[in-house]
Amino acid sequence: MLDKTATSAPTLTLGDLRVTCHSDGHLLIPASFFPDADPLEKKKVTPHTRFGANTWLIETGERTILVDAGSGDWLKARYPQTGLLGWQGEDLTEKRGRVTDIIITHMHADHIGGLSAGGTSLFPNAELHVQAAEWDYWTDEALINSVAEDRKPLVGLIQALARPIESQVTLHSGEKDLGGGVLLFPAPGHTPGHQAVHLSSGSKEVYLLADVVVSDALQFANPEAVYALETDPELAAATRKFLFERLAFERTPFAATHLNETGFGCLKKQTGGFRFEAL
Ligand SMILES: [Zn+2]
Repeated sequence: MLDKTATSAPTLTLGDLRVTCHSDGHLLIPASFFPDADPLEKKKVTPHTRFGANTWLIETGERTILVDAGSGDWLKARYPQTGLLGWQGEDLTEKRGRVTDIIITHMHADHIGGLSAGGTSLFPNAELHVQAAEWDYWTDEALINSVAEDRKPLVGLIQALARPIESQVTLHSGEKDLGGGVLLFPAPGHTPGHQAVHLSSGSKEVYLLADVVVSDALQFANPEAVYALETDPELAAATRKFLFERLAFERTPFAATHLNETGFGCLKKQTGGFRFEAL
């Protein structure tokens, strides 16, 4: 556990890999952001669908790898129950210094807000792994003028959060093998360079899906239910369906950032969609 307010799920061990989930809190997202959701399911979660805010710490023996870092203080005004990880705390200086790698699944502020505070990177010794398509999209200075008025603050915040970490970023395209059974792979749609993580040791494997699924209440039952804040909703739905089919067929355990379940689970097919079964 990182601090008194953050909650952590039991650690999962895969051979030499140890994965621990650290929750950064939760966000209440308007159900109206899911225009195509099944009306009955949507009614159950109106006015808000609750998003968890999971991050993970992977220990390989040689490396200490974070998968995203939560919101920091950046989203508290709108979502007061975020930023509970408190990475900026002075008591965590030593722990932050031990992080060797950070996998940035994508650059939304609820994933990268915890990487810096006051314009300074909080993880001075870490190499940050980002898809080139993601970095190039968000850091393009022309972007802010090409998005709708109500998206400008979101873009402005992401661009401000990118500056303090720029010198630590290593870009890649497609898959990237970090070694030790940690593989990054593209899962586009939520954002242009959104990526997920595959962890394996011997015959054991798990996935960390990041934002392939954002609403557990709506998108397992109906993977076609698109989320209004995705950069390419159709591609996001295609990615979600492809991965859900595979996970259900293989019965491979997975976790995802916004699930309310902080641990791992498996998917089972049901009429019209899937059902999540916690492990
Ligand atoms: Zn997110």
